[in-house]
Amino acid sequence: MISKVVALAGGVGGAKLADGLYRCLAPGDLSVIVNTADDFVHYGLNISPDLDTVCYALAGLANPETGWGREGETWQAIHNAVQLGGPDWFNLGDRDLGTHLERTRRLRQGDLLSEITSDFARAWGISANIFPMSNDLVATMVSTVDDGELPFQEYFVKRGCEPRVTGFRFAGIETARPAPFMLEAIEGAQVVVICPSNPWVSIRPILDIPGIRQQIQGKHIVAVSPIIGGKAVKGPAAKMYTELGMTPSASTVAGQYGSLLSGFVLDRVDGDQTDKIRQSGIISFATNTLMSTAEDRERLASEVLDFCDRIIGGK
Ligand code: GDP
Repeated sequence: MISKVVALAGGVGGAKLADGLYRCLAPGDLSVIVNTADDFVHYGLNISPDLDTVCYALAGLANPETGWGREGETWQAIHNAVQLGGPDWFNLGDRDLGTHLERTRRLRQGDLLSEITSDFARAWGISANIFPMSNDLVATMVSTVDDGELPFQEYFVKRGCEPRVTGFRFAGIETARPAPFMLEAIEGAQVVVICPSNPWVSIRPILDIPGIRQQIQGKHIVAVSPIIGGKAVKGPAAKMYTELGMTPSASTVAGQYGSLLSGFVLDRVDGDQTDKIRQSGIISFATNTLMSTAEDRERLASEVLDFCDRIIGGK
């Protein structure tokens, strides 16, 4: 039986599977390495959207409708700030603001993002280890056809992913170091699960932190496709493939992760792609990968763990 798991995750899609894995594993057996290349400063506050999405999901605090932000959120503070002339393109809920206030206060007093994250996780009653991919600043820059290079949140939220992309740059990645104790968590894991997050802007920055790819390469790695029937469930992943001249499909995602993978989980609607994926030496497994409910998350996570078990056992 699989017990120790490391999951790589971005925000919405990553958080859903991470939550399912969390519910399937014993306390302390899941570590989640979360993308921080989307982090930015807004209204003077340090915002880590993917870390918060993952933590809110595991703590049962997430807004089930949006997949991000908190349940029962109100918007008094941002409405007031906007009325006073502040920027209105990024919504910050009142409860969520408390997280950013406290994170910013602690960063300013010199604490590390990884320490702050693990303290927050403990305060929220989360027994998984949540790691920001790095304590060093990494910033996703999106190259576009008509608007040059845009900071990620400007592309993603302000411009609604409308500009056509030509590539990505992760500023600061060359010198970024993995967060403390993360490499040890990978070392102790039986399997690494790449969650169904955006491969371009959520998973790639994690893999490109010097040291992480090398560390996971010795492990069995299983990825879950974020592309179902040629479409992203949410967000710009499919649009990005098309704009970069590739067909958005599960097999394209498998090909992108390539030799890193021992196994690949794709949706049943894409089951006809398993042969193509097998030709590149990756064992695949087709099931229902759309996670609409909490039960879906747990069922998919449990199937992913069984699949990992079969891979490790050579069955
Ligand atoms: P972001 O940082 O909030 O954009 O979050 P992620 O990168 O973690 O997630 C975005 C990806 O999650 C998109 O490519 C979606 O297609 C994928 N996704 C969201 N929900 C689901 C789901 O229920 N099942 C699968 N397979 N993918 C999903």
